[in-house]
Amino acid sequence: MSKGNINVSVENIFPLIKKFLYSDHEIFLRELISNATDATTKLKHLISIGEAQVDYGAPKIEINIDKENKTLRIVDQGLGMSAEEVEKYINQIAFSGAEEFLEKYKDDKNETGVIGHFGLGFYSAFMVADKVEIITKSFKEETAAHWTCDGSPEYTLVEHDKSDRGTEIILHIAEDSVEFLEEGKIRGLLTKYNRFNQVPIKFGTKKVNDPDFTPQTITDEEGKETTEPHKQIEVDDIINNTDPAWTKKPADLEADDYTNFYRELYPTQFEESLFHIHLNVDYPFNLTGILFFPKLSQNLDMQKDKIQLYQNQVFVTDNVEGIVPDFLQMLKGVIDSPDIPLNVSRSYLQADGAVKKISGYITKKVADKLSSLFKKDREDFEKKWNDIKVIIEYGMLSEDKFFDKAKKFALYPTVNNEYFTFDELVEKTKDTQTDKDGNHIILYASNKDAQHAYIESAKAKGYEVVILDSPIVSHLMQKLETSGGDTKVQFTRVDSDHVDNLIKTDDTVISKLSDEEKDKLKPIIEGSVPKESYTVQLESMDSSASPFLITVPEFMRRMKEMSATGGGMMGMGNLPEMYNLVVNTNHQLVTDILNAAEDKQKELISQAFDLAKLSQNLLHGEELTNFIKRSYDLIK
Ligand code: ADP
Ligand code: MG
Repeated sequence: MSKGNINVSVENIFPLIKKFLYSDHEIFLRELISNATDATTKLKHLISIGEAQVDYGAPKIEINIDKENKTLRIVDQGLGMSAEEVEKYINQIAFSGAEEFLEKYKDDKNETGVIGHFGLGFYSAFMVADKVEIITKSFKEETAAHWTCDGSPEYTLVEHDKSDRGTEIILHIAEDSVEFLEEGKIRGLLTKYNRFNQVPIKFGTKKVNDPDFTPQTITDEEGKETTEPHKQIEVDDIINNTDPAWTKKPADLEADDYTNFYRELYPTQFEESLFHIHLNVDYPFNLTGILFFPKLSQNLDMQKDKIQLYQNQVFVTDNVEGIVPDFLQMLKGVIDSPDIPLNVSRSYLQADGAVKKISGYITKKVADKLSSLFKKDREDFEKKWNDIKVIIEYGMLSEDKFFDKAKKFALYPTVNNEYFTFDELVEKTKDTQTDKDGNHIILYASNKDAQHAYIESAKAKGYEVVILDSPIVSHLMQKLETSGGDTKVQFTRVDSDHVDNLIKTDDTVISKLSDEEKDKLKPIIEGSVPKESYTVQLESMDSSASPFLITVPEFMRRMKEMSATGGGMMGMGNLPEMYNLVVNTNHQLVTDILNAAEDKQKELISQAFDLAKLSQNLLHGEELTNFIKRSYDLIK
């Protein structure tokens, strides 16, 4: 029997371990399973290079709860340790690792999200146990060793009669941690952290149908046929899939394998993904993974299915901020990399060179995949556009490199359901939609129904109208307008002016009213509409065009939208609503207004103004009630 003191500088670090890792106690299980996994894969390696002459067999890791004795055991069949190795790895190395870790984090209590991202290792067992035993037998010809420590720097190390290879860790669960003796709790943790662990993990047994048994049809005395019950057998309950799809080569996988993996990863997600991107790189960093473009549903539950970060098939976190570019955070799936430094703070992570490269690599892979989908099957890509556009448009705004690639496949659907790329749209409209000053105008609508009348007038003129309805689209238009190189275009919403003014050509319509009549008309109309919100603008237009038309100047509206969705022009969102009231002086009604008596003038203007408001969905409440009343009066 030997007794010893773990060489500690802190008198007793175990209370510290408890204190600093309080919020993340559960990670002890992941740490111990990681050690068991390491021990198993190390043995495999030693066998493969001829340094261990033992039979590898089919090793597994077993988790056992004994509620009565309040113990939790983690048993592996890995390489094991001799007594000297326990001295070295547990008493010295593991301990100094734990000490160093605490030293680093004891002043940084806010980084609890980071603590637990590896680094503490074996001693994290003392977060939940007041006594820990290790019984271990090396694969070499050595007597097994039995180490016991009760959370003070003292430990005992004696011989043990364990005869089979491997390590057994016995945790005597502390009074305040008895939750870790609950089967449901442990199963939950195993599923969270270890469901793709490299070595099979056995947690109890389960009953399954015996595959070697075929139920027979039995005929009883009365001639009734029944099928005999299936024979059940008890088998190990293995909680993990040791070789998930992302660890395989893309060439070895079929489309179905990806679909199935998506289901395996998010069992409560019923929508299938639109497509996947298989990540696989080993230089200059190691990274594997599969990302899925989800079908964006209204269901906000989607948000809980996040990208999961693994390190060698062990779950680390689903907070991938800084590792995956912001615009791709809506994607789903898995990334696995041993090269992401996890026991550091988020801000450090973002500055880390390797992490920056990873983020850049992911962006590039996503752009390349989208580009190849677009080239391979454009029709299918067009069908998916609505579901993926927000992600792509956001990416174009936030990453210049992505913008350059996406410009070639980002689509602009027209109100007639044709899909153009930016270049195609420019080419298609350059002859018909260039005004007399040489400005190339792209017309767009944000809502097919609300802007129906404006869209129709634009279509009647032979203009293309594209639908741009994402919340960030005003920023994107700004970017397209300023980064077009030789092709300079200008986006204008169909309802920002009368159709004749959207794209001004040379042919002016002859005015029915003289200048004097116009001077007389303007104050009459101005006197009948709220001055603070409406600017009256007289226009000589086609006599068939509406007499009154409400428009929002493109510049004003876009500034407001952009400030509402962030970026520049601070405070613009608070501006009052400002509109133009375009009056078509060639319309008969306008002549009638001019010639009517004062009372009648007021009535005609109110009615026409309300109709104009109605077509812009601006008539509400009392105004709407009055309008309806007045309309009935007019037709009775
Ligand atoms: P790390 O895993 O980062 O090396 P740990 O504190 O988790 O740090 O473990 C310290 C060392 O103890 C390991 O490197 C390993 O040598 C040894 N060890 C821990 N658990 C086992 C085990 N189940 N089987 C064999 N060796 C182990
Ligand atoms: Mg470890």
